[in-house]
Amino acid sequence: MTNHSYLDQLKRPMRDLRISVIDRCNFRCPYCMPSSQYSRKYHFLDKRDWLTFGEITRLVKLFTQLGVYKIRLTGGEPLLRPNLDQLIQMLHSTDGVNDLALTTNASLLYGQAEILKNAGLNRITVSLDSLDNKTFGIMSGEKGILKDVKEGIREAARAGFRSIKLNCVIQKGVNEDSILPIVDYARQHHHIVRFIEYMDVGTCNNWDPNQVMPSKDIVALINEAYRIEPAEANYYGEVAKRYRFKDGKGEVGFISSVTQPFCGSCTRARLSTDGKLYTCLFAKYGADLRTPLREGATDTELLHIIQSVWATRHAQYFEDRHAIRNKGGNTEKVEMFHIGG
Ligand code: SAM
Ligand code: SF4
Ligand code: SF4
Repeated sequence: MTNHSYLDQLKRPMRDLRISVIDRCNFRCPYCMPSSQYSRKYHFLDKRDWLTFGEITRLVKLFTQLGVYKIRLTGGEPLLRPNLDQLIQMLHSTDGVNDLALTTNASLLYGQAEILKNAGLNRITVSLDSLDNKTFGIMSGEKGILKDVKEGIREAARAGFRSIKLNCVIQKGVNEDSILPIVDYARQHHHIVRFIEYMDVGTCNNWDPNQVMPSKDIVALINEAYRIEPAEANYYGEVAKRYRFKDGKGEVGFISSVTQPFCGSCTRARLSTDGKLYTCLFAKYGADLRTPLREGATDTELLHIIQSVWATRHAQYFEDRHAIRNKGGNTEKVEMFHIGG
């Protein structure tokens, strides 16, 4: 079954698959996995519940038949998954996978970047919320060491990764002072920062809309320091709005999930560590693929399940956020570390 035009209810094709390879993390960023909720007592998935590399690769092959060509490995912290390079190798040699990327906090990247590159990883995105040790500590739930992250980024560049992206979540009153230093750092090292508006993902970050710093304010701040101008999108469905520095020294992106929703062109599906398929970052439920997989379903049967999930998709949480929150909110959203960012 090879057909690249499977559309959901809003006529959106499926193009990207984000795979959470582990639900655990060594950081406790308060906006994602606050330590008050995720202490030692929290019961993360058992290893036997994780999809194996073989299972992930089999599913990816099926997803490519439905139009997916971009794969992003994420988590939790994906570098905590043992032997991740083996999975990368397997996915790299899967027909139809044109772009294989990783999102990581980079704390464990040092010593691994070259191995990942040699295994076939194309791109790396590193989450970096501050270059100030104290603020970085707060943003990582006092678990991260900035020096390790910077060393990891340096090593990725040395290993030959180009256009490394730096994802930066800004929470007003916490790390807005970090905006310009991160822009400087990125320009100096030829990386691309992308500022992500602080979102109401999951159920435990105690989201306060007053802590969202709208992208337009960040654009204005950066424009005062360096002149920037809007740049055209690289491809259909690109989430980040790109701006280029007028002096020619790179670009900066803005992911405005709160103030400028982009659900209309959302082509992303998400697979959780335990094999559930989610069609939105804010979904309540995922479709279980692991059970049929382990019970011996054929490729045709699995394709049928995936295709029907996509065909009935009408997710557009960003557009509906206001109405949903006015009605008391969606209190059963999946946590971001289960399905990845
Ligand atoms: N642990 C890896 C990392 O931090 O890069 C990968 C998983 S993490 C869930 C993926 C991305 O989600 C990170 O860039 C993180 O900043 C972003 N994220 C998590 N919670 C968020 C929130 N409440 N609002 C905006 N972005 C968030
Ligand atoms: Fe971990 Fe990434 Fe979530 Fe931070 S954002 S707690 S690094 S999964
Ligand atoms: Fe896609 Fe859901 Fe995010 Fe909208 S809210 S962009 S549908 S993941």
